Amino acid sequence: MQQRWTLPWFAALLLGLMGLLVRGSEFQHHRYEDMCRANAPTITRIYSIGRSVEGRHLYVLEFSDNPGIHEALEPEFKYVGNMHGNEVLGRELLIKFSQFLCEEYRAGNQRIMSLIYDTRIHILPSMNPDGYEVAARQGPEFNGYLVGRGNSREIDLNRNFPDLNALMYYYEKTNGRNHHLPLPDNWEQQVEPETLAVIKWMQNYNFVLSANLHGGAVVANYPFDKSRDARIRGRTTYAATPDDKIFRKLARTYSYAHSWMHKGWNCGDFFDEGITNGASWYSLSKGMQDFNYLYTNCFEITLELSCDKFPPASALPREWLANREALVSYLEQVHHGIKGMVYDENNNPVGKAEISVSGINHDVTSGLDGDYFRLLLPGTYTVTASAPGYVPSTSTVTVGPAEAIQVSLINGVFLSSVVLLLCSVPSQDFGCTDDILHTELFNACDSVLYQKLETCVSACMCCITSRAHAGAAYLRAPLGSSQGKPSAVQTDLRIRDNAASAI
Ligand SMILES: [Zn+2]
Repeated sequence: MQQRWTLPWFAALLLGLMGLLVRGSEFQHHRYEDMCRANAPTITRIYSIGRSVEGRHLYVLEFSDNPGIHEALEPEFKYVGNMHGNEVLGRELLIKFSQFLCEEYRAGNQRIMSLIYDTRIHILPSMNPDGYEVAARQGPEFNGYLVGRGNSREIDLNRNFPDLNALMYYYEKTNGRNHHLPLPDNWEQQVEPETLAVIKWMQNYNFVLSANLHGGAVVANYPFDKSRDARIRGRTTYAATPDDKIFRKLARTYSYAHSWMHKGWNCGDFFDEGITNGASWYSLSKGMQDFNYLYTNCFEITLELSCDKFPPASALPREWLANREALVSYLEQVHHGIKGMVYDENNNPVGKAEISVSGINHDVTSGLDGDYFRLLLPGTYTVTASAPGYVPSTSTVTVGPAEAIQVSLINGVFLSSVVLLLCSVPSQDFGCTDDILHTELFNACDSVLYQKLETCVSACMCCITSRAHAGAAYLRAPLGSSQGKPSAVQTDLRIRDNAASAI
């Protein structure tokens, strides 16, 4: 009989922080809290962005060297899971990923430490906790394809955002504007509480990059989701954004770092390189990724991670190993391109300045601190900052080949083969002594998740994460640092007051 696949320790962590009792899982709660709060007390924060229809908090785990604070020039990143309540792998991967960040930070993993120092990472494991409860009540074996997909009012949250594509397609014929589009009147009354919470979250944080984790296929899907001619039934047409090349690269970063997504054949479908434009697959309106691009500075893709929307617990370790490198690599992409400050002539930061790049018809804006982030592929660009009342200022900047795609590709494959190799033989043969295993099992791999795994896989995980093993050298090495660690080119822009220049 399959164990019901929930992670009580996560619920316990979240609810425990609210001072509530959770059935039979205080142990995990304390362990996790100890791990994240006691061992890495300075890098984590948990906050709620709002509540679901049934009143469940939408909790976010934040990782940063200064949690709770936006530091100028430090980009904000988000992962969102379980938007469809019955698509649960993303939720579990994000919980495991959070735990992984804690553990690796604590263990001195340079790659993870520099990510946490240089990035503010926000993780929302479940955007739809009500739907999840409905799906989880049935369990993995009996979960129907749609049961628990919507929120408790059975509204599909990925069809619930304001439709800015329609406005953008209209603007294409008039003023051409396709960024920071206005929300419709009364939009707050038109969306579900979960959607409302996420939109307010987007308004409060200047996110640069994001991914939305789903299930039911295995592919990295990038905007636009909504086709320009959505009214023609059954017809699919590629709907490219002005940033199509960047989106394709972002999607490929995930698919190639994933153990098998890039191979293309999955779940009876074929996607070349494991990526697809949303509309060329099937068109949908009011989705979250298009909304991110049209309303905020954030670039978001949608990751479909498993054929089975509610996989059994026994599938989790394999899925985690298949996605771990991809989750890290994708996060590192937030550091590609250019970033900088926008100042006026008196060195005051200018917020909400528009940053435009010649040749790409999509602007981003500076944050309240005057800092901006623009994801770009390697190349030379002409960048202009402008703001009402100021004379625009233009600079030329060259973005180098910060990261060779091939490096992450090779490493992704390399990692999976190591894992398979390790699993096929006793872990001791690879230098994992009982002592290390014992320590790792009880200190690092002590979640409920791992207690339920088969010993071999637990041992493998521990071998891999143990510094004593060669396999660990890969993970702990600052990947690609010699090849050019992802790092945005800093370009500060200075704009002069219009009135002053007139005088
Ligand atoms: Zn979905």
